[in-house]
Amino acid sequence: MTQQLRRIVVVGGGAGGLELATRLGKKLGKQKRAEITLVDAQRTHFWKPLLHEVAAGSLNAFEDELSYLAQAKWNHFHFLPGRMCGLDRDNKVITLEPICDEKGQEVVPSRELEYDDLVIAVGSTANDFNTLGAKEHCLFLDSRAEAEKIHTTLLNHYLHAQSAKKEAQELNISVIGAGATGVELSAELHNAAIELARYGLDAIKPNKVNITIIEGGERILPALPLRITSAVHKQLTELGVTIKTNQIVSEVTKEGLNTKDGSFIETDLCIWAAGIKAPEFLKELSGLETNRINQLVVRPTLQTTLDDSIYALGDCASCTLEDRKGQSITIPPRAQAAHQQAELLTKSLCAQALGGESMSFTYKDYGSLISLSRFTAIGNLMGAVTGDMMVEGALAKLFYISLYRMHQIALFGRVKTAALVLKDFISKTTRPHLKLH
Ligand SMILES: Cc1cc2nc3c(=O)[nH]c(=O)nc-3n(C[C@H](O)[C@H](O)[C@H](O)COP(=O)(O)OP(=O)(O)OC[C@H]3O[C@@H](n4cnc5c(N)ncnc54)[C@H](O)[C@@H]3O)c2cc1C
Repeated sequence: MTQQLRRIVVVGGGAGGLELATRLGKKLGKQKRAEITLVDAQRTHFWKPLLHEVAAGSLNAFEDELSYLAQAKWNHFHFLPGRMCGLDRDNKVITLEPICDEKGQEVVPSRELEYDDLVIAVGSTANDFNTLGAKEHCLFLDSRAEAEKIHTTLLNHYLHAQSAKKEAQELNISVIGAGATGVELSAELHNAAIELARYGLDAIKPNKVNITIIEGGERILPALPLRITSAVHKQLTELGVTIKTNQIVSEVTKEGLNTKDGSFIETDLCIWAAGIKAPEFLKELSGLETNRINQLVVRPTLQTTLDDSIYALGDCASCTLEDRKGQSITIPPRAQAAHQQAELLTKSLCAQALGGESMSFTYKDYGSLISLSRFTAIGNLMGAVTGDMMVEGALAKLFYISLYRMHQIALFGRVKTAALVLKDFISKTTRPHLKLH
């Protein structure tokens, strides 16, 4: 009688989940030591930290998307399209929503999938804190579709202005939240304003595109060291971006934003980039422990607190560790954390397949880099040799880009990644600087 293979199911093929499924496929799937299945609500993977570039048009998402089916075929795992909506821990089964077409017709009915080990890696979305009018009047930057919607809306404003043939037309853009996403997006939008005018959409002059960042805290980039915040603040101001700190948005309307201190910010295009929360369905998922932003609480092994066979990684996991001095650190919702957790879980799940134990996660903060479009990049690098070193300009940009290249190496290996770098370089010379459609 043949023994049934261990079934490892990874839900969410993002920055962490796709790296994990790929590595497990190569290590366990290929040798038929386990059956690896990746489930994702989308059919293609797009690396989330590039979304602000898609929103501004600096990047065409089609050029960097990856088919899950193809990646699964190349790396010895299965791919099942579908959105997870339920979990039965007693029977070790997850439930997927039915898949419907654009008219709402059911294409695939609801399904169940059995697992021996389940890894939940479903990421996060922006947190609008139930602010009045935010859902109706803001655009968000949580998925490729939403980023493309921002880009189309921006272009529509320009096309409308162009057809109106009026003098001195203005465009007021508000970005709510001055974390890395809001800051990087603002710089990209400023670049887009310059490029659009260059390509002939010049009814709105670049200096008439008023970009305002609204932040509830005292300073932009609150999670980063003060010296980086100050350097980025200075650069953004020089670009003409207005920064309003200590301003909490109380209501978003069609015309603009009301803040708690009673001011009104006129807005034509409003993007919500503040805060994060894990998907709602995790809140009541078979009694698993969650925190106030729906993240699954995990132990240092990344196992959920109440179930050894269920793991969580990346933005949807709340992982608190002790550093060398015995102080507790909460792992930040960042691609580099998801990447490191995927590496750890690869080792743990491979060890377990051979009868070993789960391993504990240790987080290495390699620093943070903020890209201000083509203008500059600023950040700090943390390493054994460099210590905590501030970097700016071309060097910072190089390290910033290398984070994406590391993700590509994890998915495709070094040779294919080198080919992709070359392809990107060549295609840059043959297309406009900005996506214009
Ligand atoms: C604009 C922007 C810029 C950023 N820049 C940086 C940066 O410079 N550096 C950095 O370290 N981090 C950055 N981040 C944060 C980084 O993108 C996230 O921390 C990282 O993507 C988290 O990885 P993840 O695997 O947890 O989730 P994600 O990469 O978000 O992937 C989640 C996956 O789960 C799928 N999914 C969701 N719900 C379900 C469901 N119910 N069923 C099935 N599948 C589901 C989604 O389709 C998606 O594929 C940025 C984020 C944004 C938005």
